[in-house]
Amino acid sequence: MQPMNCCVAIGRFAPSPTGPLHFGSLVAALASYLDARAQGGQWHLRIDDVDQTRSRAAAIEQIPRCLEALGLHWDGPIQYQSKRTARYAQALDALIRQHQAYPCGCSRREILAHAERGPAGMIYPGTCRNGLSAGRSARSWRFKNTAPIIAFVDRAFGEQTTRTDTEMGDFIIRRGDGLYAYHLAMVIDDADLGVTDVVRGADLLPATAPQIALQQALGLPTPRYLHVPVAYDELGRKLSKTNAAPAIDTDQPFATLRQALAFLDQPLPGLNELSSVSELLQWAIAHWMLPPLSPNPAGNWGSA
Ligand code: GLU
Repeated sequence: MQPMNCCVAIGRFAPSPTGPLHFGSLVAALASYLDARAQGGQWHLRIDDVDQTRSRAAAIEQIPRCLEALGLHWDGPIQYQSKRTARYAQALDALIRQHQAYPCGCSRREILAHAERGPAGMIYPGTCRNGLSAGRSARSWRFKNTAPIIAFVDRAFGEQTTRTDTEMGDFIIRRGDGLYAYHLAMVIDDADLGVTDVVRGADLLPATAPQIALQQALGLPTPRYLHVPVAYDELGRKLSKTNAAPAIDTDQPFATLRQALAFLDQPLPGLNELSSVSELLQWAIAHWMLPPLSPNPAGNWGSA
């Protein structure tokens, strides 16, 4: 594991390859790129393919090509979560040794019948927390959340406080199908990359507290967080691969980047002032400022 470098900013873009890069993921990619480069830092690309049931081979190929076509060049090799299972297993072992992970025998149906809904999903009622009852076998592994409160400061949203008992509960870190869960994988990956600045869509703001809880349990540093506006389609749905958001246009990289910059409310150079993608990116790095909190109105994401 690499120690966190205290002086160099390290950012990353970590798409889940469930479909082609769309405008919403470009916004997150661009924001994290500009934020890292504006600090003179490194920017990495990680393919979050830990959930191999949802990953698509075509997207794993397409996303890096698309970023390159837009001039968003990353540092170092691309990291793939699917190749890091042994590392996640080590982390789970460490949590088990610390009594901060336990096997759970509950089915989804049982949990739905007893659990309450919290801001980031169902809150596990703790059925298996003190051991599996007789005749039950382990399906998944859960993180035993012992800190009463997780607090952090988001660079855009400000101070955030989450109560672990009523808002979060003991969440899954290894699923019933044997795959490691996103929270565990990404916490280990970010720490191993030495990430100092997580910049991503505001839809992931509620994912931050469980991730910090894991960092604390594993003795890992907590990076800075910046959650940027999420793009919605004309129906008001978050643009996502699941909603079949259209792939972005890499034939017109300059115009595509201008649209993403406008969405992030960044200053834009005059239309004829710059002509190449690399000039536009240099300009955007020099003028990078924190984006606003709320997304542009629905349907406005492609109109800059
Ligand atoms: N892989 C996640 C996604 O595509 C993002 C992970 C992150 O930025 O922390 O939604």
